[in-house]
Amino acid sequence: MVDVGIIGSGVIGLSIARELAGRGLTVRVVSRDPPHATTSWAASGIFPPAPEWPEAGPGDRLTAVSDRLHREWHHDLREETGVDNGLAVCGGLYLAVHDAGLQRLTAEAESWRSRGCRCDWLAADAVQQAEPSLAAAADSGLIRGAMLLPDETQIRPPRHLKAVEASCRKRGVEFFVGRGIDSLDCDGDRLHSVRCGDAVHQAAMWVLATGSWSHAFAEVFGSAVQPRPVRGQIALVQLPRPALRHIINVGLEYLVPRPDGRVLIGSTLEDAGFEPGTTEPAIERMLRFAHRLVPDLAAAELETTWSGIRPGSPDGLPWIGRSPRLSNGFVATGHFRAGWHQSTGTAELIADLITGATPRLDPTPFAVGRPLTGSDVAAATMQRAADDMTAVQW
Ligand SMILES: Cc1cc2nc3c(=O)[nH]c(=O)nc-3n(C[C@H](O)[C@H](O)[C@H](O)COP(=O)(O)OP(=O)(O)OC[C@H]3O[C@@H](n4cnc5c(N)ncnc54)[C@H](O)[C@@H]3O)c2cc1C
Repeated sequence: MVDVGIIGSGVIGLSIARELAGRGLTVRVVSRDPPHATTSWAASGIFPPAPEWPEAGPGDRLTAVSDRLHREWHHDLREETGVDNGLAVCGGLYLAVHDAGLQRLTAEAESWRSRGCRCDWLAADAVQQAEPSLAAAADSGLIRGAMLLPDETQIRPPRHLKAVEASCRKRGVEFFVGRGIDSLDCDGDRLHSVRCGDAVHQAAMWVLATGSWSHAFAEVFGSAVQPRPVRGQIALVQLPRPALRHIINVGLEYLVPRPDGRVLIGSTLEDAGFEPGTTEPAIERMLRFAHRLVPDLAAAELETTWSGIRPGSPDGLPWIGRSPRLSNGFVATGHFRAGWHQSTGTAELIADLITGATPRLDPTPFAVGRPLTGSDVAAATMQRAADDMTAVQW
């Protein structure tokens, strides 16, 4: 029997596995899909600046701790596995393309500065100096102004997953992927095994890291664990050579340039249940958005499209902590749009709770049984995406 069984092989499950194995525990990952078929693989990998400031709320603290850990993991993973996960500071430009956007961005710029972040405001003519690929859009009057966050960073999700999986294997983590869990066998308040077909996996402790599909385990791990599935679609185009310097953000839509000339165009925020796949109208809209901003992209080859399903939580915070139902169960899910950024801090926090170490983050705000009050953050973000689509017809 292993010390810890982890259900789920997305960035959350794998990061926890790596952290626990690094602390000397024996770990088995049991998952329906291999890492390259998860929502995590489908993500864009944008890390906005993550300052620590005195009034930061729990979500921002988790992001800040995770952001620092990512810099360490980037280095350590390369040493351990030879895989470079592509973590790189490239800067993020946030464009205002209408009056409401201008007002919103001006307030956001003030807020970033008050948190101690580097943040420049660029008038329309300065935008094209910072990002020449936007010259035509700036000349046409489309761009009203922009906020530049020089410390915005990107990571390559497929590469990071590959690196973390390789690191896990080096640390002795066992993998059983390709089959969903059929049943959970409990003995009182202890989960002693999970069954996947004929295979039975036993572990002294269990961590649930099944992202949007966690509701299927809520009865056993905690009834509140009901993430809202929010689909996101992506289009990937390939240019012969890199054309963009920065990540370009407009509202919740963005272009992420990779150093090899690829540009990732994203993303939708859709209430489509657990329906995977892409839709023609959404991909066409994203391509129009990209072509309007950067005309060079109209000549780029559309390499592929895909989607992933984000696990939204009602109060905007993930569930990270002990299961209120199981004495040997833990939960780490509901990271919505920040699961990549928050993965390392989540792994550290879960590992601290399992090993009895003093966590550097207060786990209380992430408690699995916390009351869920206030407005539904995932629903509000989807509404904002829908409003943006009405405001700008690319
Ligand atoms: C288009 C898009 C762009 C994004 N961009 C960013 C970004 O720029 N920055 C950022 O920080 N975050 C981003 N995210 C969010 C981020 O991808 C998610 O928060 C994160 O991937 C969630 O990871 P996870 O490990 O919890 O879930 P997942 O990656 O979904 O993994 C869940 C795992 O559980 C397994 N599983 C599910 N059901 C079962 C079962 N019944 N039995 C066994 N195993 C099961 C699955 O096989 C899978 O291995 C983006 C998401 C999308 C969709």
